[in-house]
Amino acid sequence: MKQRQIFIEKSTQPSPPGAPDVRLDRQLSPERYKVLIERATEPAWTGEYLHHFDEGVFVCAGCGGDLFSSSDKFDSGTGWPSFKRPIGANSIVEVQDLDLGMIRTEITCANCGGHLGHVFSDGPTDSGLRYCVNSLSLEFRSGPTPPSRTPSRSQ
Ligand SMILES: [Zn+2]
Repeated sequence: MKQRQIFIEKSTQPSPPGAPDVRLDRQLSPERYKVLIERATEPAWTGEYLHHFDEGVFVCAGCGGDLFSSSDKFDSGTGWPSFKRPIGANSIVEVQDLDLGMIRTEITCANCGGHLGHVFSDGPTDSGLRYCVNSLSLEFRSGPTPPSRTPSRSQ
């Protein structure tokens, strides 16, 4: 069984300092493994969730943790699912990524450390941010959309 090489970018670097260890709870498909563990990027315009705008929660394909609300998804025109903000203040971790000669901010699942994508500050949204996420890092749980949680205030 021979697989077509579909990944346009594969990181050759180990996870950068400060990146959390990856702790996965489930078996991953080879495609998901490449993205979540090896920090590859799926080709633009190929993702399962690119044009997926149903109501629900996008969860981590590695551990099932909540990551993004469908109410924060927007069409960025970049070819990857894009979000204004994570669903909770502690749902993702940002790590500086120097691969490919660029300074980017990698985003990983705060729960399992799986690679999700990158966050850019050119978001055409109220948050000013664009969380650019691989569909292969995500699974979708349909249902009522909970509001994104801002950092909790003291009670
Ligand atoms: Zn996870």
